[in-house]
Amino acid sequence: MDKTPRYILMSEKAIKIQEALKDVFDFRFQGYCTKHRCLLTEGYDGSVDCKVYGEWLSSQKGLPDDKEYKKHSCLYRHWIGLPYQDQLQEMLGENQIARLSLFSEWIVETLEPVGIYASDEFESLEQLWLVFVMKEKYNKIWKDNKWLKYF
Ligand SMILES: [Zn+2]
Repeated sequence: MDKTPRYILMSEKAIKIQEALKDVFDFRFQGYCTKHRCLLTEGYDGSVDCKVYGEWLSSQKGLPDDKEYKKHSCLYRHWIGLPYQDQLQEMLGENQIARLSLFSEWIVETLEPVGIYASDEFESLEQLWLVFVMKEKYNKIWKDNKWLKYF
């Protein structure tokens, strides 16, 4: 599972994918808190917390004061999911062979000629699939740390 800063940034900015997958993310294992910039884990009481919020929570005695709570709270709206490869693949339809075939055509036709195929441009298959899904479904490419419209 890719948890590199680059994949986090790519996932965070892929708003459409965040929306499309929000119901299938398991935030305990693939969640990231964009407010405190850290990975989410299972909290001491079975909740899902980021490290900063979890530490703040466990240092509190009794019920948190409302104002303090709000200031520190790391609520759902700050969370993003880091898509697993299979979740990205499933966004391209039911037929696994068809998806793989499209993917390999794209590698050969698009990446190989410009040399990306042989370079270390992408650090993981998750990154490569994210780029592919963004291009296929939303016509966007990853350039200069942004998703840009592909012409
Ligand atoms: Zn947080």
